[in-house]
Amino acid sequence: MNRLTPQEVIQSLQSVLPRKDFIALHEPIFQGKETMYVTDCIHTGWVSSVGAYVDQFEQNLAEFTGVKKAVAVVNGTAALHICLKLIGVKTNDEVLIPSLTFVATANAVTYTGAIPHFVDVSEKTLGMDPYKLEAYLAKHTFFKNNEIFSKKSGRRISAMVPMHTFGHPVEMDKLLDVAQTFHLKVVEDAAESLGSYYQGKHTGNFGHIAALSFNGNKIITTGGGGAILTNDEELAQRAKHITTTAKVSHPYEFVHDEIGYNYRMPNLNAALGCAQLEQLPVFLKEKRKLANRYERLFSSVSNIRFFKEPENSCSNYWLNVLLLEQSDIIMRDQWLDALNQNGIMSRPIWKPIHQLEMYRDCPAMPLDTTMKLAGQVINIPSSANLNEGL
Ligand SMILES: *Cc1c(COP(=O)(O)O)cnc(C)c1O
Repeated sequence: MNRLTPQEVIQSLQSVLPRKDFIALHEPIFQGKETMYVTDCIHTGWVSSVGAYVDQFEQNLAEFTGVKKAVAVVNGTAALHICLKLIGVKTNDEVLIPSLTFVATANAVTYTGAIPHFVDVSEKTLGMDPYKLEAYLAKHTFFKNNEIFSKKSGRRISAMVPMHTFGHPVEMDKLLDVAQTFHLKVVEDAAESLGSYYQGKHTGNFGHIAALSFNGNKIITTGGGGAILTNDEELAQRAKHITTTAKVSHPYEFVHDEIGYNYRMPNLNAALGCAQLEQLPVFLKEKRKLANRYERLFSSVSNIRFFKEPENSCSNYWLNVLLLEQSDIIMRDQWLDALNQNGIMSRPIWKPIHQLEMYRDCPAMPLDTTMKLAGQVINIPSSANLNEGL
């Protein structure tokens, strides 16, 4: 096993990447029927929040992911917000989320009036650690009327939001066990895991409800967009209703039966989404090819490890992950500077949410692995077009 210097890592990466001055971390690819569908959408006049492409996109999403229902919305954050609301998260509840996630997971919890409660992650999946969570809840919560409460704050803990980090499925079966033991609702933050499978089933099928994102940097994009996935028909109906300003169907009158949200995805975005979804199988194949190439490249390197999909899962390899050795963590920013200066766009993982100003005082379990991984992870270019010409 040999140790690579940053310069050698750059050379290795350049040997498996296209010869370009700048390689983005992740860029959208429009090589299908995007222009055709979007143009057609404009010609129909139906560009806003109802239209045939929305219905089509929802149907295609449900088919691809194997869930009963998909509801398209304006973005992934809005999808998470509605998921949490619909499963009954209330003001002053606490909701268990990883600290190692995009800030939207915590923000969505806050929108419901609840408070994020941070959970440590596992080095096996980069997502919530079910074993640590189980031990923690057993020690720090009590039951009252069939619900759990935090001993420290006295607040109800109503749900958990496992997130499939960079597309790698989290250990769902054990998390569902924990959820059952402690009577927690489960929202999957599957924003990064469209095309990822756990034990042969698409992510988003395991909890009560799940959220997807189609932001510009995700595996497929609608410009901005998201979706709510669920196998519960009633939840799906509620999701559609509440994201459509809770408008009651009527031939001409405006009637709304609760405080709803204007969260529906516009038809124009759904048209783009229909074209993107058609290409998803190709994107997945290309991304796996790239991941395999990275894996081989670092297989005999001692100070850098390529993160492979966890056991029992098939990842979409949305963003590829290199892990620095713990002794090299202090050099992380030097590595990042070197990579970026050489046109290989690279980023560290998110700053753990519990360290952000607005979430600093939220409840948390010990977050040792979170802090370790926060220093180790480097994301490297992962677009589905990086195999071209190779
Ligand atoms: C992208 C993302 C979201 C939010 O999606 P938007 O569409 O950008 O609102 C939520 N959670 C995670 C983990 C994400 O990566």
